Amino acid sequence: MPDRAPRLGDVIDDYCPRCRLLLNHDVTSLFDDQAAKVTCRTCHNTHDYRHAQVPPKRKSARKEDKKSLIEQVLASMPKPPEPPAAPPPAAAASRKRDLWAEVERIRSQKKDRRG
Ligand SMILES: [Zn+2]
Repeated sequence: MPDRAPRLGDVIDDYCPRCRLLLNHDVTSLFDDQAAKVTCRTCHNTHDYRHAQVPPKRKSARKEDKKSLIEQVLASMPKPPEPPAAPPPAAAASRKRDLWAEVERIRSQKKDRRG
């Protein structure tokens, strides 16, 4: 805690929203014996005095925003067209497979007889 009220032109530490860092600031405006506005000594950006409070990082929130954005983009994208040749019905496929299984069985029987 400062032992005296800040004065115009005082250099105080504050969070610069532009630099996104805790940096030296000049006090440029006072209100109720408190720094109201400060000017970043690095980028000369004047902003409200933030009492040297670094805003909490909202990484998780931003991540979710990003995710929802991607989902939104994906949702807005047109779906790929259906393939022109539809796969054969399950019944026909299994019948075909059974036929081949039968052929294989006959072949193996022949082999057995021969061997
Ligand atoms: Zn700055």
